[in-house]
Amino acid sequence: MRNYRNSGQGTFTSTVKTTADHGDIQQEVDVTQGLRKRILCPSASAEVKSVLLGVVQPNGSVGFIKDRIEVTREFLDIATRGGGLPETRFRFSSPCLGSACKQWANGGCSLPERLADLISRSDATDAPLPECSIRDQCRWFDQRGSDACRICPKVITRDNSQ
Ligand code: SF4
Repeated sequence: MRNYRNSGQGTFTSTVKTTADHGDIQQEVDVTQGLRKRILCPSASAEVKSVLLGVVQPNGSVGFIKDRIEVTREFLDIATRGGGLPETRFRFSSPCLGSACKQWANGGCSLPERLADLISRSDATDAPLPECSIRDQCRWFDQRGSDACRICPKVITRDNSQ
């Protein structure tokens, strides 16, 4: 099974680079008592108060978590124990940075369109949509609807080379 990884480099090589540079995300999250009202990035960096969206399964696909779980400092400490980035094993969601994100182009997030071009229909699952916890606020779903959800489980935010 292929996975499509992201790093915020803004260019494609042999793997898909997707994640935003979230340098300002901590401030965004800290002021977000109203996180539930915000448009959310479904492939964000691991941060305290981000949403734990899913867990990378042994088969390389992301298993989504139905309930919304807020990431704590303790979780991040455990997730980074032994080395490796949490984004290699989990998916996180944080407020979309909009035009402040390097993945933003032409008035929207460029990633769902680019990923759709790279993930063939045979790789995109025809199973029911994942029961994720952020659909009503998800940037990718907002832009591409269920097509985004069908490729989303194939996306891992970072790999160990990043
Ligand atoms: S693209 Fe779909 S499955 Fe992925 S996080 Fe957004 S709503 Fe959930």
